[in-house]
Amino acid sequence: MSTDGRDTGQDGQSGEVSGSTADRSESGEGDSGTRRRVEVYPGKEAVVAFDPALTFECVDGCTWCCHHGVMLYEQDLLELAGVAPLSEATTQFRGEDFVPKEDKDHDHTGPDGQACYFLQEDGLCALHDEHDWKPARCSVFPLSVAVEDGNIHVSVRDSAREHCEGLNVTERRVIDHLDAFLPELLWDLDDPETRREL
Ligand code: SF4
Ligand code: SF4
Repeated sequence: MSTDGRDTGQDGQSGEVSGSTADRSESGEGDSGTRRRVEVYPGKEAVVAFDPALTFECVDGCTWCCHHGVMLYEQDLLELAGVAPLSEATTQFRGEDFVPKEDKDHDHTGPDGQACYFLQEDGLCALHDEHDWKPARCSVFPLSVAVEDGNIHVSVRDSAREHCEGLNVTERRVIDHLDAFLPELLWDLDDPETRREL
């Protein structure tokens, strides 16, 4: 279980559309040697390029993925404006909006002493804790979204393989809960790639 709400943070999304019942295999190279096309929402599919046996559950005390800035999609920015002062809680970089990281006087930081603006002393995300909401990219982690041939491809982020403690420590298969990781807004974006970094 997470201290930042990520165990259920991905629960901010509705329902449990089972990928395992709606998927179908196609040729290609994923972790398992096969890519699966999964209907995540009605009429909205993702190509899964990771082993369908992959499981995930956020781990208590690990706040690694909150030690960085977070890119915001336009809809994130609009929703964030309703709960936080954008002039303090966001910054722009190369034309994109981000929640910045900043110096923190608590222990939940990276080696540089910094963490996301919203990461609290108790290791919880203030947005999720107080508003049951967080930016789309925070829901997507530890996955990564890229667009190839007009399709949304989902893989595991390289940084997550290296640092995320929640991979393969539970029975909860990621492929069965893709709607929790992939907010529906991703399908409405011109560019839903999640590889951009602050
Ligand atoms: S917004 Fe919340 S969940 Fe996202 S990185 Fe910051 S503290 Fe973590
Ligand atoms: S890196 Fe993984 S285990 Fe750690 S807080 Fe983030 S999602 Fe949870």
